[in-house]
Amino acid sequence: MHSHDKLGDMQSDEFRKYGYEIVDWIANYFENIEKFPVLSQIEPGSLKDAIPNSAPETGENFGAVLADMDKLILPAVTHWNHPNFHGLFSTSTSSVGVFGEMFAAAFDMKAMLWRTSPASTELEDVTLDWLRQMLGLPGNFEGIIYDTASVSTMHAIAAAREQANLKVRDDGMSGRDDLPLLRVYASDHVHSSIDKACIALGLGTRSLRKIECNERFEMIPAKLAEAIEEDTEAGFVPLCVIPTIGTTSTSSVDPVDAIADICEKYGIWLHVDTAYAGPAAIMSEKREFFRGWERADSIVVNPHKWLFTPFDLSVLYCRDLGVLKNAFSLVPEYLKTSEQAAVKNGMDYGIQLGRRFRALKLWFVIRYFGREGLEARLREHCRLANLFASWVEESDEFELMAPVPFALVCFRICPYRVTDLDALNEQIMNAINTSGEAYLSHTKLNGTFTLRLSVGSIRVEERHLKKVWDLLLEQMRKVQSNQGTSKQD
Ligand code: PLP
Repeated sequence: MHSHDKLGDMQSDEFRKYGYEIVDWIANYFENIEKFPVLSQIEPGSLKDAIPNSAPETGENFGAVLADMDKLILPAVTHWNHPNFHGLFSTSTSSVGVFGEMFAAAFDMKAMLWRTSPASTELEDVTLDWLRQMLGLPGNFEGIIYDTASVSTMHAIAAAREQANLKVRDDGMSGRDDLPLLRVYASDHVHSSIDKACIALGLGTRSLRKIECNERFEMIPAKLAEAIEEDTEAGFVPLCVIPTIGTTSTSSVDPVDAIADICEKYGIWLHVDTAYAGPAAIMSEKREFFRGWERADSIVVNPHKWLFTPFDLSVLYCRDLGVLKNAFSLVPEYLKTSEQAAVKNGMDYGIQLGRRFRALKLWFVIRYFGREGLEARLREHCRLANLFASWVEESDEFELMAPVPFALVCFRICPYRVTDLDALNEQIMNAINTSGEAYLSHTKLNGTFTLRLSVGSIRVEERHLKKVWDLLLEQMRKVQSNQGTSKQD
């Protein structure tokens, strides 16, 4: 069974034996996921301390490696698949998504050229077109897969820069007297990936102008128009506007249609960040939140967030992928092929040469659940989030801090006579998180400490929301009895 004495790979009988064991292991893991603490309970550095600090000189028995999965790795895992993972955005993989990763690893293709990976290249086109139709986007949008929304958005801004014809591809940005300050506009609730994209592209964070939001945390279009006018007068070049449908802190929705009017008027690239909420467009009743996104130049949607596809898979839809190609295509002699004029080569659309076969797992997910199955799951998540929000609203000891357009609830605990509510909420959140029973995260809204509960796991049921509610009540009573501040006092 042991292949260490020979050269070459593990023998196929050994692969089969451990492969079956691993599938059993993963099936048990999914079955028992609720028995694990949501957040890993280890101390920082303890995994490192438990592992030898140099590689084994001779190969080990793979059974011993697998045993360490239980002993060493599992305790150090924060279980994103746990149905009570409600922090950040709750994201999880489906089982078929795992199958997609198994095949992709087995093929180990690097989708740079059509020739090196026809399956990945063509399946990516087909799958992204299926997804486009499910989202209700018009047929002139064409997609490309990157790892993360951060990278998708960086490419979108690079495309905007290419479109603006500033000769940055050849002349760069440094040492130029002829290049004024370029501006990227987004709301003050925009995700930090936009700041980072500005850093990476050499625009600098001073290029990013953050526009004020209204009391619902939505960008105010009139403020955007004012900023563009002011910048244009100052001689700056407005490059790109990035509204978000489903912001990170509250899942608020910027008014994309009104923003598209402004972009059209001034001829500015419109990139819409729907990294989190994009899949919600599958639900007909949520389409109103997406009004105007069909007018965008580019849109980012992450199936790895709310479409049961294992990390990573982010999609950038562009109205004209050719702009991206103009920005990045560069074909050295050793990558020239006889069919290059007739095919799409993935390497032409970004900074990566090799690209993973990511489309496969999304194709599996869409085929296994179908559009209807996906819609039903997303709809249930929205129902559960709204149910939780209704408990918050009905209680005079809790308060809703933002509207709930999708499946994220922003709230806080505000019992009678407690003066430092920020400290109380933080204390209760930390107590729940340390217990391992559930994971909540927080944000600050207008300076106020706010709890965030995201519903997005493929395994989540009503009982999981009830559990969080009970935990919150239990912690609140505990704090109150310690402080003698309950209402009955
Ligand atoms: N945009 C929004 C609105 C997000 O909420 C996030 C992450 O939560 C991102 C972008 C970044 O996503 P990624 O981790 O895929 O880069």
